[in-house]
Amino acid sequence: MALESRLRDVENRLELACSRSGRRREDVRIIAVTKYVSTAAAEAVVRQGVTHIGENRWPDAKAKWEALQGQAVFHYIGSLQTNKAKDVVGKFAYIHSLDRESLAEAIQKRAQALELSVPCLLQVNVSGEQSKHGLEPEAVRPFLEKLRKFDRIKPIGLMTMAPHYSDPEETRPVFRALKQLKEELNASSVSDEPLTELSMGMSNDFEVAVEEGATWVRLGTVLVGKEEFKEG
Ligand SMILES: *Cc1c(COP(=O)(O)O)cnc(C)c1O
Repeated sequence: MALESRLRDVENRLELACSRSGRRREDVRIIAVTKYVSTAAAEAVVRQGVTHIGENRWPDAKAKWEALQGQAVFHYIGSLQTNKAKDVVGKFAYIHSLDRESLAEAIQKRAQALELSVPCLLQVNVSGEQSKHGLEPEAVRPFLEKLRKFDRIKPIGLMTMAPHYSDPEETRPVFRALKQLKEELNASSVSDEPLTELSMGMSNDFEVAVEEGATWVRLGTVLVGKEEFKEG
C-alpha cells in the first residue's frame, strides 16, 4: 500500500475509534514513527501533513532531524541513556521515556545550558513485563514529587507500551490503567500542572488505545511502513 492509502486507512480507523468512544478526532494526535525507514520516507510523511515524528535512537534519527528540523516536531520515544540526553534535549520537542532520576538530572542540566524547558512524559510499565522499560505504576507519584526540583522539566503526561497480543482487545486493561493512574495523580495535584497527555497505542493496538483515552498514538508499521517504499 502506498503512503497516501495507508494514511487514509489510519485516518478512517481513528475516526471510527473516536466515534465509538465519543471522542473528538482533534484530541488524538498522530506521531509517525520513522525508525524503520529512510530520511526520504520520513520526508514524504511530513509532506503528507503528518508533522510529528517519533524516533527511538539519536544516531538513527540524526539525518532525519537535520533534513526535517523546522518542518516537523520530533518526539523521543525510546529508552534514553543518561549520557545521550545532551544529544536529544533541544532537538526533540518532547521526551516520552522519562523513567528515572539520573535521566531527569541529565535533561535538567542540558536544558539549563540551553535555557529551555522540556515537556516530558513519564514512561510507565503498566503490564509488568520484564522486558519493558518504565516506572512501576506505584513509583510514578514519588517520582513526580522528585521532579519538582527540576525546574526545566515539565511533566505533561504518561506513556506506556502494551505487550504485543495477537488480539489487540487484550491490551485494553493496560491502557485503561494508564488513564486511571493519570486521573488519580491529577486528583491529588502531585504535579503543579495537571497531566494532560496519554501517549499510548501503536500499529497493533491504536484503536483500543484511542477508545481508552490516548492523546498521542505512535504509529510506525501501519502508517510509515517498515521498508523503503517507493513514492506514488
Ligand atoms: C517502534 C515504536 C513504535 C511504533 O511501532 P509500530 O508497532 O511499528 O507502530 C511506537 N512506540 C515505540 C516506543 C516504539 O519503539
